[in-house]
Amino acid sequence: MPLHLVDHPLVHDALATLRDATTSPQTFRHMAMRISLLLASEATHDVPTSSIQVQTPLGPADGRRVRDGVVVVPVLRAGLGMLDAVLELIPTARVGHIGLQRDEMTAVASQYYSKLPPSLAGAFVLMIDPMLATGGSAVAALDLIRKAGGADVRMICIVAAPEGIALVERHHPDVHIYTPVVDHGLNAHKFIVPGLGDFGDRLYGT
Ligand code: URA
Repeated sequence: MPLHLVDHPLVHDALATLRDATTSPQTFRHMAMRISLLLASEATHDVPTSSIQVQTPLGPADGRRVRDGVVVVPVLRAGLGMLDAVLELIPTARVGHIGLQRDEMTAVASQYYSKLPPSLAGAFVLMIDPMLATGGSAVAALDLIRKAGGADVRMICIVAAPEGIALVERHHPDVHIYTPVVDHGLNAHKFIVPGLGDFGDRLYGT
């Protein structure tokens, strides 16, 4: 499976702040935005563009514009912490939402919401979910994206566990995963260790 380890120093600087248990929700949100910008920049290095020409004050210049057809899909609720960063880079992107809730005892994900653009055929799809833990939510969300016609799909996460990567690889071997880090594994509650705790709780102060 195409696993892309993003090794940029600024990514790891932001990740260290996200991991720090003393980081406030305000700073956590700020760093989630910063790291997501950097990761999304990597994950879109081959986004389709069209050649254009613009007039500078001194004359014509060739350029490129990102084509329509990018779809970003945050997995609720933690994925929302990455959405503004992607829209900052690609304001024309359409947004689909997938709501998956993890049972705190069993860690099994169940879907409570899904609203995707009508057809994802031909779209450049970016699924955003910061914590790739068991992989259950990621596979469920990717199943929905596939069912909607999504063929060219990348997943961006902020911390990944080997278990989650393996599950995505088994079910969706062609999905590219962008992550700065693969942590040691999961604890008994299926949290990533060392990870950064519950991303949604830290983002929203719940
Ligand atoms: N979701 C989180 O927010 N954190 C984890 O460690 C695993 C899943």
